Amino acid sequence: MARRPVVLVATATVLVGLVPATAAADDGQGQWSGEPTPGAPGIGDPYYPLDGNGGYDVEHYDLDLRYDPATDVLSGTATVEATATQDLSAFDLDLEGLEVRSVTVDGRPATWSRDGGELTITPARPLGQDREFAVAVTYDGVPATIQDPALGQSGFFHTADGALVAGQPESAATWFPANDHPRDAASVAVSIAVPEGLEGISNGALEGTRTQDGWTTWSWRAEEPMATYLVTLAVGEFDIRAYEVDGIRYWDAVDPSLAGLDPDPDVAGPSVGEVVDAALARQPEVIEFLSESFGPYPFSTAGAIVDNVPGMAFALETQTRPVYAPGFFTDPVQGDLVVVHELAHQWYGDSVRLDAWQHIWLNEGFATYAEWLWLEREGLSTPQKEFDQLYANADTLFPGLQPPFWTVLPGDPGAATSLLFHPAVYQRGAMTLHALRQVVGDTAFFQVVDEWATSRAGQAVTTDEFTTLAEKFSGRELDDLFQAWLYTPERPVLG
Ligand SMILES: [Zn+2]
Repeated sequence: MARRPVVLVATATVLVGLVPATAAADDGQGQWSGEPTPGAPGIGDPYYPLDGNGGYDVEHYDLDLRYDPATDVLSGTATVEATATQDLSAFDLDLEGLEVRSVTVDGRPATWSRDGGELTITPARPLGQDREFAVAVTYDGVPATIQDPALGQSGFFHTADGALVAGQPESAATWFPANDHPRDAASVAVSIAVPEGLEGISNGALEGTRTQDGWTTWSWRAEEPMATYLVTLAVGEFDIRAYEVDGIRYWDAVDPSLAGLDPDPDVAGPSVGEVVDAALARQPEVIEFLSESFGPYPFSTAGAIVDNVPGMAFALETQTRPVYAPGFFTDPVQGDLVVVHELAHQWYGDSVRLDAWQHIWLNEGFATYAEWLWLEREGLSTPQKEFDQLYANADTLFPGLQPPFWTVLPGDPGAATSLLFHPAVYQRGAMTLHALRQVVGDTAFFQVVDEWATSRAGQAVTTDEFTTLAEKFSGRELDDLFQAWLYTPERPVLG
């Protein structure tokens, strides 16, 4: 995520009751011994105890949906293909709001109950460990937009001509039932029916469109597993540009109304739409540049979504197709930098994803460092200059910042979005990488970042795994360095 400055609050979550286990034999495939029990209502993230769920692992989401901009109603069926990781009498999906109409497990009607963001499903018969199963949830309603104290509006935006989805860390559950935590990634297929004449965009590759009875269904498929918060949806009027460069297939979707948006009526210059076009045109160049340091681009598709949403103040690295607020494109340098940031996340954040939200600096520190590498390439700055300026002036560069810059621990910032997305996570995170580079030298440093992206592709990771890798490739003991930069609430002393 890239943010344009804003403020904080904490969300309260309530623990939910569990459905009691029912005693019945598994009807094949899986074997279970002893009494099947309900899956846990959370996946085990200390920051967000009820995010994700226990007892199963998702392989695929198939979202067959319809969105009507006239009513803001989203409706359809989400089919979740998963494997039980324990003998399950019941299990949860995360779902916020919306009306559940029916639930089946492997085609058989299942009972369900709801408590806050937990949708608890009790299959007709328990599911044995290792059993593969498919849950189909039919639902509808007007998805609620998240009012995030730090990010402003987030999640499911209702726009003038449609809708746009981008939110982190908790947004997927506001529009589809999910195991809503990055530890459990899955492939995703989204079919979105929209009124004829509008476009519907999601992640991955466009497989086709078909129009019937005044509705056009756009079918997208992303084969490479992704975290649920990285699934996006855009509905509205978009210019879609499809092209292929170096074997990567791009789909860019740009709101045509941005062409007439002038960043500053008092200054002659390009429109927002023109800055967007120029920045998106550089995506293949950015991907090639980042590949030189990080290894091959991890996905088969790429692109961007830029929608004219006045209430949106951030960009998000939605997998293969980041979503950008138009406010980034008032200036060509900023426009290029936000594209660099979100594309860097395709390696760090999307392909290599978080095992727990505490480790968010592994996403944001790397994406910020990628911006510094880009500034160097463009002759505008260097990582050393960025580091030095922050080291000397961090307190004045972020006036009024609460908590103050040096007091936030990038390695354990805290659960509130004002902390997860605090400048210390980004800038001090990037400074941590530069401090590592200074100690181990360029050769070992770039081996580490490449190895991190390639050896952990498709995996959920922790900070400890990164520091272990850095020690292995540098042949140095780095405890003191990481302790000072990631876990000490003060400005580290330079060696
Ligand atoms: Zn970011």
